[in-house]
Amino acid sequence: MALYEHPSRRAGWIKSELAFDVDAKDLPVKPCGCGEGGVCEKCLEEARRVVMLFSDVLSSDLGLRDLRFSYSGRGFHLRVLDEPVSRLEQNERAQVVSYVTGGVIPTDLSLALGYSRVFREFAARTLERLPEERLREVFPRAAAKIQQKKEEVLQALRRGRMEEMRTLGEKGERLLEFLARLNSSWVDGRVTVDVKRILRLPSTLHSGVSMKCMYIKDIESFSLDQAVPKFVREGGNGGLGKA
Ligand SMILES: [Zn+2]
Repeated sequence: MALYEHPSRRAGWIKSELAFDVDAKDLPVKPCGCGEGGVCEKCLEEARRVVMLFSDVLSSDLGLRDLRFSYSGRGFHLRVLDEPVSRLEQNERAQVVSYVTGGVIPTDLSLALGYSRVFREFAARTLERLPEERLREVFPRAAAKIQQKKEEVLQALRRGRMEEMRTLGEKGERLLEFLARLNSSWVDGRVTVDVKRILRLPSTLHSGVSMKCMYIKDIESFSLDQAVPKFVREGGNGGLGKA
């Protein structure tokens, strides 16, 4: 949502919420067999977990409080409504996104704190889920070695012992770059950085699926049943109306 001085012309941008769009069909590493553009309960569940991790970082590391979730019909939106964030310009937003997603390799890899911790945890999470075939595609010659050392690398990342990544030699650096790139694609970056982008409004129906786009009160206990229009109708949730 964006606020303008002259809304009809979309001129005089004043502020807008920071939004993270985690689309289950575009996950960089899928937990399921869905092909391109496909969505199933598994990848939706993965999208839900990822959006919760982002919100943890936003609240614990950046001290942000006004976080709202919604179900988009294909994934989840996380909107940050804290006032200082809403006035950030595009490049500042990009930095927040890089930080929160672990999308950039921190410059000082020996530091086990702050930025480095978020990056390391997401890099480890992504690597853990990365199928060997993907490794082979990207690192045709080094995949076997990376796979063989995967446990050690995961440990090194999680404990902040980045020097242990050297067991992979220069491949370690390239692997980190690859993981950073994957990390940054858990969200649709265009949505997050663009201060004028408009997200799907909750309580509209996603055209591709028969589920409701809706606000989520409690992301931890959210289940897809809650987004099925039939349930909405039968549950008498007056605010959402008919599908
Ligand atoms: Zn799937």
